[in-house]
Amino acid sequence: MSKTVSILGSTGSIGTQSLEVCEKHDFRVNALAAHSSVDLLEQQVRQFKPDYACIYNENKFGELKERLSDTSVKVLCGMEGLCEIASLEETDIVLNSVVGMVGLLPTLTAIKAGKDVALANKETLVAGGKLVTELAKEKGVKIYPIDSEHSAIFQCLQGNKREQLSKIILTASGGPFFRKSYDELRNVTKADALKHPNWDMGNKITIDSATLMNKGLEFIEAKWLFDLAPEQIEIVVHRQSVVHSAVEYNDYSVIAQMGVPDMKIPIQYALLYPDRFECPTKRLSLTDYGTLTFEKPDYDTFKCLSAAIEAITRGGSYPCLVNSANEEAVRAFLNDEIPFIQIGEIVSSVLEEFEYFEITCYEDVMKADSMARAYVRNTISEVK
Ligand code: MG
Repeated sequence: MSKTVSILGSTGSIGTQSLEVCEKHDFRVNALAAHSSVDLLEQQVRQFKPDYACIYNENKFGELKERLSDTSVKVLCGMEGLCEIASLEETDIVLNSVVGMVGLLPTLTAIKAGKDVALANKETLVAGGKLVTELAKEKGVKIYPIDSEHSAIFQCLQGNKREQLSKIILTASGGPFFRKSYDELRNVTKADALKHPNWDMGNKITIDSATLMNKGLEFIEAKWLFDLAPEQIEIVVHRQSVVHSAVEYNDYSVIAQMGVPDMKIPIQYALLYPDRFECPTKRLSLTDYGTLTFEKPDYDTFKCLSAAIEAITRGGSYPCLVNSANEEAVRAFLNDEIPFIQIGEIVSSVLEEFEYFEITCYEDVMKADSMARAYVRNTISEVK
C-alpha cells in the first residue's frame, strides 16, 4: 500500500519528521516544497529524488535551480509552484505543513484536484474553514489532521458514531508561561517565549503556544474538522502532553488518545490511515510519568485564547481577522518591535475594530487578511 506523497513545507519541523516517516514506510515522495531553506531542500532532493522541487521565496529560485542542475528534478517557485505540486496527477496525498496563510490556496488547489490532504497548516481551516470543508465534501476528498490534538480526536472517533459524540476535550500544554499572571507576562523575553516545555517546533507556533493562540487556532480547526458547536469544545491544560485529546460520548464515556509527545505518531497515522505500523519513536511508559495533571486555562491572562474562541463564536470574517492580526503581531514580536504582552492586546482589539462580514470565497479571506494586517501595522507604528 505504498503511496505517493507531495510535501509542502518539507524543511520545517513537521516536514522533516514526515520525510522520516515516508522513509520508514517506503513511500514515494514525488514533490518537495520549502519556504527558503535552499541547503536543506537540496539535501532532501538528493536523498528522496522527487520529480519536483519548489522554493516559495522567488529570490532563491536561481540558486536552487543552479544547485540542482545535475539532477532531473523540475524546479519551481512561488505560490504558482506550490499550487502546481499540490495538484500533481500522480500524487495520492498532499501533506501541507506550510506556515501561515500561504498554506490556504495550495490546500484548496489540492482538494479541487481531488487529492486527499494530510493537514498540518492551521491557517487553512482557521481562515478558510467553511470554504475548505465544503469543497472537500463536494469533491469527496479526505482531510487527515496531523496536529497531535486533532489526530487524537480523529483516532477517538474511529468505530464510534459521530452523532453520539457530546463534546471533545482539547488538551493544551499551557506553554512556558502557564500560571504566570498578566503582570508577570510584561517582562518576558523572546528567549523565554521560544522555550517550549514539551514540543520542539518552529518559531511561529512556539510563540503561539506561549500566548495560547495556538490552542485558540486549534479550537477553531476542531470546529471545522469535526463539525462541532463552540460549546462542544472544552480546553483543559495538561502539562505533560501525554493525553493528546479526548472525546466524550452521550453515555459520558470518555475516550482519550495517548502517546509520547512526538509528532511522528500523528504524521504516520495521517499518512497510513487506517493502518498502524511501528513508528520511529519511543513507546509510552505511563509509570515513567507517574502523575498526569489537568487544569483550567486562564482565559483572562491569555487574551489570544479568549479572542480566538470569541471569533469563531461570532463566525464570518472574525476567525480570519484574528489569525492574520496574530501573524502580524507575532512577526513584530520576533522582530523586537512589540513586547510579548501586546500580541494578546492586538489580537483581541480586532474584535472591536471590525464589523462582521461573510466569507464566501477565497477573495473574501484575502480581504479580511489584508484588513487585519494593515490595522496591526498601523497600530504598531502609532505606538512606536
Ligand atoms: Mg497541537
